[in-house]
Amino acid sequence: MSISRRNFLKLGAAGTAAAGLAGLAGCVPSGPAPSSELPATGADDWLGTAPSLSLDDCVQTIECEVLVVGSALAGSMAAYGAMRNGAAVTVIERNASPHIGGMTISFLNAQTQLEAGLPKYDPVETANAMFNLTQYRSDMRLNALWCERSGEVLDNLRTDFLEPYQQYYAPISLEGIFPDPSQEITSYISTGVAFSETDILTDFTHNIHRFLEDKGVKTYYRTKAEVLVQDESGRVTGVVATNENGESVYFKAAKGVIMCTGSFGGNEAMMRRFYPEHFAEWALANNAYEAYMGEDPVTDTEMDDGLGHRMLCWAGAEMEEICSWAAWQTTGWRSFPYLLVNSKGERFMNECTSLLTSAHIVADQPGHDGVVWQIIPTNDFEMPSSFGYDRAMAAEMFKIEENEHYEADSIAELAEMIGLDPDTLTATVERYNELCNAGADTDYMKATRYLDPIDDGPFQAWKMQYLFYCTLSGVRCNDKLQVLDANHDPIPGLYAGGNTVGYRFGASYESLLHGGSNGLAATHGYLAGESAALA
Ligand SMILES: Cc1cc2nc3c(=O)[nH]c(=O)nc-3n(C[C@H](O)[C@H](O)[C@H](O)COP(=O)(O)OP(=O)(O)OC[C@H]3O[C@@H](n4cnc5c(N)ncnc54)[C@H](O)[C@@H]3O)c2cc1C
Repeated sequence: MSISRRNFLKLGAAGTAAAGLAGLAGCVPSGPAPSSELPATGADDWLGTAPSLSLDDCVQTIECEVLVVGSALAGSMAAYGAMRNGAAVTVIERNASPHIGGMTISFLNAQTQLEAGLPKYDPVETANAMFNLTQYRSDMRLNALWCERSGEVLDNLRTDFLEPYQQYYAPISLEGIFPDPSQEITSYISTGVAFSETDILTDFTHNIHRFLEDKGVKTYYRTKAEVLVQDESGRVTGVVATNENGESVYFKAAKGVIMCTGSFGGNEAMMRRFYPEHFAEWALANNAYEAYMGEDPVTDTEMDDGLGHRMLCWAGAEMEEICSWAAWQTTGWRSFPYLLVNSKGERFMNECTSLLTSAHIVADQPGHDGVVWQIIPTNDFEMPSSFGYDRAMAAEMFKIEENEHYEADSIAELAEMIGLDPDTLTATVERYNELCNAGADTDYMKATRYLDPIDDGPFQAWKMQYLFYCTLSGVRCNDKLQVLDANHDPIPGLYAGGNTVGYRFGASYESLLHGGSNGLAATHGYLAGESAALA
């Protein structure tokens, strides 16, 4: 996987006062500058003011019934849900092509999964487990929707798209891989579906867009939504967008607008407002939102600049206060829970802690750079992967030999090579070995089957880098994916899907589901489309 490095947002010096512009009557909200040029200095002015665009400035009006903003997973599925329910759908996307992050998408109890021999899960237990993992911060109705409807979504996809378009799909079984999920804190129920044997979701992305186009969904690329248009009653009637020629176009939607604009991880002011300081600092410096886009063209403006979230808030929605995120280990023996040490040479966590949810622990280490080291002995011990990978397969998949690593005959020598204090690292390894030999990790409570003393040289140190992928938080929605205002009343004509929807994950990323963020994005996106079409 190649990681395209980003030009981070360089925010200007002059700030604008934060101003909610809910309920402006009869026009596009007005303000001092187009939002894409919005200056912002810090957390206080993350919202800014809506751009001063007027319908009179629009060179064209394009009419549809349902307008979807953003063409990634939530947007594709929203378009599908609306189209399947009879609506005339238009999609606008600021990038020059579609993309979807990740490898799997989660669904529950689809016929497709049951036929593949996977267990049927109890939706009540599953929804409550999701709720618990979000520290009771998710909206249970959103969990329940996924538990009750995602299976149907996969089965519909299979009939309408996967089989007719010969799109690869394979329900993944995690049965037996995690003998004790309470200790191996990662996805452990068999909800994930892969859409490629070897690749990420690139094929799926391109094929679903081909399918949508064949079904009459028109997508305008290089077209950036700037502001929602509301009528005098506050109803959302469309969007003013900038097209590829830099002209303003009014996309008018008779039934509703579905905002699927994804992450705000590239917006410095929003990151500082909605995340703790060290975490925001680390995330901004290690944002890998474009990591899976491969050769897909990426616009010269940030696709994850949070403009969609601000558009929603200008129209009267409220951001959730506690925000979640997705991150991942991107170098080293990912998911193999060898001893991990920080830049002081000290152990700092149970290495089995979910890959998905441990980034904040790593970002909290001295230096806050998201870099830690795996210390590995030379022996025949087959360290199991907490993600169920086979070691040989993982070595090939991660192109492991290309990852930065060092080897030495002694721990002290190894420490010198990677710039750690030799005495501290030696003491850390001695303590770790003591725990391994006793068969109980009384310091960090790692499961016994992962305990292997580091006592056979040569010893290796593998650099493990954590990168930030995206934000997973947004505005409050009801069970029709209608966006709610501060009084929890629906803003007529306004829907959301994917990472603009708030109250799904709590403070990090619950780890029960395999492809959980894609799972919620797919199902909620589809249901937003269904609701808008049937409105
Ligand atoms: C590198 C990476 C790996 C990941 N791996 C996994 C995984 O393995 N499993 C998993 O479940 N999840 C994974 N995720 C997360 C997952 O991809 C997303 O959370 C999920 O797909 C939600 O997508 P979305 O459609 O809401 O948003 P996004 O994928 O962020 O898409 C938003 C779209 O909206 C467009 N857009 C934004 N603003 C505008 C605007 N103003 N006008 C027009 N268009 C706009 C953007 O260009 C983009 O195409 C990963 C994410 C990344 C970045």
